[in-house]
Amino acid sequence: MRDLIIAIDGYSSTGKSTLAKLLAAKLGYIHIDSGAMYRAITLFAIQNRMIKGDTVDEKALIEGLKSVDIHFEINPENGQNEIFLNGKDVEKEIREMEVSSKVSLIAKIPEVRNHAVALQRKLGRKKRIVMDGRDIGTTVFPNADLKLFLNTSAEIRAQRRYLELLKTEHPATYEEVLENITERDQMDSNRKVSPLRKADDAIEVNNGNLSPAETLEKILEIIREKFSDDTGTQ
Ligand code: C5P
Repeated sequence: MRDLIIAIDGYSSTGKSTLAKLLAAKLGYIHIDSGAMYRAITLFAIQNRMIKGDTVDEKALIEGLKSVDIHFEINPENGQNEIFLNGKDVEKEIREMEVSSKVSLIAKIPEVRNHAVALQRKLGRKKRIVMDGRDIGTTVFPNADLKLFLNTSAEIRAQRRYLELLKTEHPATYEEVLENITERDQMDSNRKVSPLRKADDAIEVNNGNLSPAETLEKILEIIREKFSDDTGTQ
């Protein structure tokens, strides 16, 4: 059985992490949410008052990165790979709007990206990994065995994210969510370093009309076709 690196990229809230989680569980692989790393670094910057409005104290943040420890641990209660920032589980905190509204500002800083990409590559050394993000197929793993690019309309994405946030302690309105994902897509697509774009050899999947289970099934079909029986999936 051949071990794979699977890269899933796409616009904000396209269901990348949901698919990556389901796919990793199905294949017995590790799932790494690369966006969670940029979110954790953003939380660190917020906690240390390094962001004022839309201005980031880049010098302080770059210096601060030396004391940032980010790692993932499987939560035995739900089997999910959760992110820790300097020893604290911040999985829930990093999904709040406060972080979402600043993360693209932080993610465009080249030193921040170098830091995150080095960690991502380290995590992928042994393959058997599904990583989702914006630049996984283009920059982090340009030789990934399978590259997927998810896409669907901003309105469908905002509605999904809005419903997810409703279940949390800090919900937001549909309009706020739509504005946030549109703004992030814009910033992520236009930054200088590793902008969000579909890798030439990525398979584009529009999952607007598909449930998570249907999306998973579609991808498993692609995997079966592409790798025949060498992944162990039937
Ligand atoms: O995937 P998620 O929406 O949680 O990512 C949050 C933000 O992190 C994105 O809007 C983007 O600015 C940044 N990001 C990135 N590169 C990645 C993953 C996320 O720049 N590989």
